[in-house]
Amino acid sequence: MTETVVSTRLLEKRYGERTVVRGLDLDVRPGRAYGLLGPNGAGKTTTLRLVTGLIAPTAGTISVFGEQLTSATADRVRQRIGVQTDTELYTSLTARENLELWGGFFGLRGSEARRRTDEVLEMMSLTDRASSPVGSFSKGMRQKMAVGRALLPRPELLFLDEPTAGLDPEATEDLIADLTALMRDTDLTVVICTHQLAGLDTLCSDVGVLVGGTLVAQGDISELIARRWPRTPVRIDVAGDPARAAALVPDATVTSAGIEVQSASDADTEHAIATLAAGGIPIRAAVPQRPTVQDLYFATVADARRNAIESGKVVA
Ligand code: ATP
Repeated sequence: MTETVVSTRLLEKRYGERTVVRGLDLDVRPGRAYGLLGPNGAGKTTTLRLVTGLIAPTAGTISVFGEQLTSATADRVRQRIGVQTDTELYTSLTARENLELWGGFFGLRGSEARRRTDEVLEMMSLTDRASSPVGSFSKGMRQKMAVGRALLPRPELLFLDEPTAGLDPEATEDLIADLTALMRDTDLTVVICTHQLAGLDTLCSDVGVLVGGTLVAQGDISELIARRWPRTPVRIDVAGDPARAAALVPDATVTSAGIEVQSASDADTEHAIATLAAGGIPIRAAVPQRPTVQDLYFATVADARRNAIESGKVVA
């Protein structure tokens, strides 16, 4: 098995004078979901189009399944990948008819097409709507259909471009739950371009952050968070005067309901709690304030923009 499913080196895309992707060293590991994040215009869709062979790079290399992506290999590589980019479906046909039709485009015939359609409807929790015309579907259901369509040929690698765009929080959660179950039950590798951060850490184990066409951070989400914030703050809510509690614990700051302690380890937290208890201060709650993927994203983008301003560059 190759160590990475997709990897790019010094990948660059220019349109005229404008460089929209620069020096990209992307590494997508097998069996994992990789969230490619970045503000509008950062180059996410362009990157997706490059690594799926839809557009040619200006410079650099792309390898998919360990094979260099070239005009000679692109067709072979594309047979092993699924790409969801739009939600255009035949609105007068039912969900089942749409998928069977698209299955035919992917070379699935007869009972095989019907069996795979049933499997995909099940994966996307659409079985009970299989016989409804797609024109009657909500936006969330159409997005699921678009993802399901990309899954029909059993891809080993699935690319999703903004699959939750325009969905309400429930529909977003629902789609993320279906994709998370899919990741759990198969060896599929997923690359998902998004700026929808809520729930992303349930689905994705890895992220890459693109700013102004440059990949400014990449790796395992937990490792990136631990590297950036080695000390996890712990909020300790107490009864009575928080100032009294703060006076007992080194480096504690007062909050409305208690104190916050910059804790390096569980032992530090336990020590703080024991100190408060010994001081006769009743403890109501102790809650680690772990940074989220949202915190990581905003901090990384802010750093990149600050660095760009300091070096006189303008970024998206
Ligand atoms: P969004 O989140 O808004 O979808 P994105 O991160 O996917 O943005 P891209 O669509 O990759 O960003 O666009 C990156 C930059 O490349 C933008 O400035 C865009 O205008 C430019 N760009 C994309 N395609 C072309 C093209 N065919 N010709 C010229 N410029 C292009």
